[in-house]
This record gives sequence, structure tokens and C-alpha cells, in this order.
Amino acid sequence: MNQKNTDTEQICVPMTVDVPYRFAAGKYMARFLTELRDNGRFVGIKCPSCNRVQMPPRVVCAACHVKNDEWVELSSEGTMVGFTIMYLPLTDPTTGKPHEPPFVYGSVRLDGSDSTVEHMVNVEPDLDKVWVGMRMKVVLRDREERIGDLSDIIHFEPLPGQKRPQ
Ligand SMILES: [Zn+2]
Repeated sequence: MNQKNTDTEQICVPMTVDVPYRFAAGKYMARFLTELRDNGRFVGIKCPSCNRVQMPPRVVCAACHVKNDEWVELSSEGTMVGFTIMYLPLTDPTTGKPHEPPFVYGSVRLDGSDSTVEHMVNVEPDLDKVWVGMRMKVVLRDREERIGDLSDIIHFEPLPGQKRPQ
């Protein structure tokens, strides 16, 4: 007869736990998000040692381990340094709404920053019409719709008059 040892048997009870939470953005991130919401501006923070400008701002430079304390206003224009054409549906984490494929998702370095922002790009998902090095501008929600998070960015869109490099 086979007896189970109830002292060592592991019984699993599957469940889904929904834990909504909020956390304080902190002094640096709060300034960044407030500037974005109230003034439609991007600000970064400059490392006094290596001069790297981080956006979103961080208190300490990850490379030098020194405190960052020089605020820098950034452009709302920049250069796309990478992109992908998405052929699978994606739930936008900032809205919870699905984004129907195909669409372009890009990584853009705003002028004056050493960091990139990843977001939707409002351009036809055609490799003849989108390229690395393309100049972009940020399109924000209207002031009264902005809430102080990255969903205040609607998307990037190409600056007009560009031609694909040969
Ligand atoms: Zn540094």
C-alpha cells in the first residue's frame, strides 16, 4: 500500500493576485514629469564627471557613481537610432488599449540627450519610408489632457521634407 507523506507533500493552489499600487516618483522623476505635463518640455540631468545627459533623469550617474545635479532642457526633436515594424498586436502599457499591427515602434535620442525614448512612430510601416537616422519630433497630448506620465506622448512623427539616404 502506497501512503503519502503529508509532512513533505507540496500542494499548489493556483491563484491570480491583483495588486494595484502607487509609488512616489521621487524628486528627479517628479520634476521631469511635471515639466512634461505643465510645459510640454523634456528635461534631463547632466553628470558632472562624464557630461552624459540622462533622460529620464537619475539622481546618480550609473557609470561614474556621482550625484547628478545640472538640469538641462532638451529639444522635442531628435534622431531615430533604431526601430522595428511590429506585426503582432501590442497592448500599450500606458493606455491598456491594443495597437493594431503593423506599426512602427522606434527608439529616438532627443537633441541634447544621451538617452533614448522608445515609443510609437507615426509613419507608414514600410522599409522604404522609415530609416535609422530619420529626424523626428515628439507629438504630445494637449495640455488639458496631459497627466504627468509617458502617456502624455502620443507618438513621434518624422520632420517634414526628409529623403531616405541612398
Ligand atoms: Zn557620469
